[in-house]
Amino acid sequence: MRCPYCRHADSRVVDSREAEDGQIIRRRRSCPECGRRFTTVEEAVLAVVKRSGVTEPFSRTKIVAGVRKACQGRPVDEDAIALLAQKVEETVRARGSAEIPSHEVGLAILEPLRHLDEVAYLRFASVYRSFDSLGDFEREIASLRAQSSGQSSGQSGGPVSKTNGYVAAANGSAG
Ligand SMILES: [Zn+2]
Repeated sequence: MRCPYCRHADSRVVDSREAEDGQIIRRRRSCPECGRRFTTVEEAVLAVVKRSGVTEPFSRTKIVAGVRKACQGRPVDEDAIALLAQKVEETVRARGSAEIPSHEVGLAILEPLRHLDEVAYLRFASVYRSFDSLGDFEREIASLRAQSSGQSSGQSGGPVSKTNGYVAAANGSAG
């Protein structure tokens, strides 16, 4: 790493430490030429590929802004939104890919948002999935109703959601 002060071509790492739960590494470097110190930050690049093909860096701030908009007037606090955005980032990073299509980021938001607030979920889904008729809302609401009644009838959440997942997968391959 080139020294930002004297432009010397090399520098020495004197200290490295992880920050933000290991998402980034900060390195303290020293220039052997001028003796000054500077810091570099190392972070795995995660790019979001938009429908237009343009890529932009993944931004948790953008997730928060989008979800906050959907939650306007709803009893959802900032902490819950921040936590959701963190979950979304974890989900997206867990894919292990350096480039994520923007629709996958949207999907990663929808799932936890449904659990957070159903009205906010509908608002977000209506924009994200480009609902253009009442029928789209009706289908989504029917699906929400089916899911919430499924959860209340079966006390054990794990097996129920597994069954749902299986059914969804079977429908997908049939259709
Ligand atoms: Zn230097």
